[in-house]
Amino acid sequence: MPELPEVETVMRGLRARLEGRVLARARINRPDMRWPFPPGLAQTLTGARVTSFRRRAKYILMRLDGGDSVLIHLGMSGRMLIGPVSNGPVSNGPDMLHEHMTLETSPSADDPGWRVGFIDPRRFGSVDLVPTAGEDSHRLLADLGPEPLDAGFSAATLSAALDGRRTPVKAALLDQRNVAGLGNIYVCEALFRAGISPERPAHAVSAAETKKLVKAIKAVLGEAIAAGGSSLRDYVQPDGELGYFQHAWKVYGRAGEPCENCPGPPLCAGIQRIVQSGRSSFYCPRVQQ
Ligand SMILES: [Zn+2]
Repeated sequence: MPELPEVETVMRGLRARLEGRVLARARINRPDMRWPFPPGLAQTLTGARVTSFRRRAKYILMRLDGGDSVLIHLGMSGRMLIGPVSNGPVSNGPDMLHEHMTLETSPSADDPGWRVGFIDPRRFGSVDLVPTAGEDSHRLLADLGPEPLDAGFSAATLSAALDGRRTPVKAALLDQRNVAGLGNIYVCEALFRAGISPERPAHAVSAAETKKLVKAIKAVLGEAIAAGGSSLRDYVQPDGELGYFQHAWKVYGRAGEPCENCPGPPLCAGIQRIVQSGRSSFYCPRVQQ
């Protein structure tokens, strides 16, 4: 599932190709994904100039000069493919069946014209329209907490969110009202870096640890975004896929492997996997208490 850094790099890739361009053509290839496409979407897109992009949690907002923003969620399996219009379809083989939205820009003096396809076999993704002036009132965005990379997410705000809560700190961090856009992988990695067990009750995280945790969250996300930027030219992979990249996790998916902070057995048995609320948590019980 695309996590926040992947969504950020997909957004940056779209920005590099589409910002300032006019959408010459837009095609919607089925009535719905997770939810129905909004009525008139293709007409709203066609002929509109893309003015800017924004990411909010794991949503991409593409602003149009007509005053609307296109709200895109990649869901579980959504991908954006891009290529020069002259190359023909961006998707091929079975992907073509799952290309639900296609956008094209016109060629210009400094640009061959781009075709972007939104591919999503499982269709948990979605596309909606929202007035740009009211983006944050959209039902999917209205209840979101602070952006983890913004200054508005601080030890003070996190500590207010954790205060008095008996729920495990991991669940509190996955609660999008406390901090927006954090998924399972980055919560595991941040808790490891901060030395806090995913099972610790939220209220029992000290002020000093909360500070460490906020720093860890910002660092793991920031490093992943930077890695995506340095490994991909303009955030485009050689096959035309926007964003996504290989990333080396320190604990996620590494059950049974040695933990880099520990001397190994018998002091540390390595990284453990437990299940919390039906989802895997990976951690080192020695350094994370
Ligand atoms: Zn360890």
